[in-house]
Amino acid sequence: MRPLVPTHVETLKPYVPGKPIEETEREFGLKGVIKLASNENPLGPSPRAVEAMRNVSGATHLYPDATSFHLVRKLAAHVDVKPEQVVLGSGSNELIELLIRTFTTPEDEILLCQGSFSAYRISAQAHGRPFVEMPMREGFLYDLEAMAKAITPRTRMVFLANPDNPTGTAFSRDALTRFLAAVPPEVLVVHDEAYCEFVEWPEYTSAVPLVGQHPNLVALRTFSKIHGLAGVRLGYGIMDARLAAYLHRTRMPFNLTVLAQAAGLAALEDTEHVRRTREVNRAGLDYFAAELPMLGGTLTHSHANFVFVDFGRPAVALYEQLLRKGIIVRPFAGQGFPNHVRISVGTPAENARCVQVLKEILT
Ligand SMILES: *Cc1c(COP(=O)(O)O)cnc(C)c1O
Repeated sequence: MRPLVPTHVETLKPYVPGKPIEETEREFGLKGVIKLASNENPLGPSPRAVEAMRNVSGATHLYPDATSFHLVRKLAAHVDVKPEQVVLGSGSNELIELLIRTFTTPEDEILLCQGSFSAYRISAQAHGRPFVEMPMREGFLYDLEAMAKAITPRTRMVFLANPDNPTGTAFSRDALTRFLAAVPPEVLVVHDEAYCEFVEWPEYTSAVPLVGQHPNLVALRTFSKIHGLAGVRLGYGIMDARLAAYLHRTRMPFNLTVLAQAAGLAALEDTEHVRRTREVNRAGLDYFAAELPMLGGTLTHSHANFVFVDFGRPAVALYEQLLRKGIIVRPFAGQGFPNHVRISVGTPAENARCVQVLKEILT
């Protein structure tokens, strides 16, 4: 008998999401559990997006606009590109899948950084695409020089998370432009910048301003983090119009709901929510950077909305102790970081409670 699924599906280890609040409360008989596990926006969704979704909810019996006409135009203006260069997705995760499906064959290799965002590896494997993972360099940084050297005639696509998840580290504009200069034009470079709106490092650049000179470059962004719309599923890619046209052929016609399109339009206007999100995040990163080393934690320099901390002890056990006290974080033992937990920045009160509970456990 032939196997039910191909080997690459049989051996696929699925994505492990952050544990939901409700499930944790049920399992441990707790109330008021805090989730600092999925880099969600601690301020909640953009209030203007919530209002916009309420306003269109009566029209949800109709199929959405398959072209997302208004949102595409607004986003294009927002990032200063042509509407033909914008592709929307049900989260940027859908765009990762679409890029792999559209531009690679099972003979093509996908180049990744080991320990970085696991969705790239999972999507590659789910499509039966071979992938090569290059180790990070000292300091949990992408080793772009080694990655450029690892490109072979089989390499078709490279994924870069900048800032990276789960490490929070970032690489500079110089490093990115040097990498792009070393990459053959037929290799697609996907610059996943899910956290770019949080970066305050002057040497950082989004890939969006470079897309014009690099027809093989794709910038991926999301409404899940800065706009607080992770539950709505809305992401976008900015790229050469020729690449975008191919994605429009392969994507599902109604990949964006009526609610997502309305939410996106309103969230882009909600500059106050974005400003407050950045402010709360900055304060939270500073707070963790001051407090966690006093508890024996070693932090990377995070440019995102979470910290990546080594407490010098097995992370899974620490994660479980935190769960029992009502704090959900994320251990990364499965991805080669046995002692690291990732803690998302919460509200000031949530951050303080997290530090308090860590203090109880660690001292
Ligand atoms: C959170 C995150 C995303 C966003 O995924 P969505 O599907 O848009 O919610 C993409 N890439 C990285 C590296 C992330 O951490």
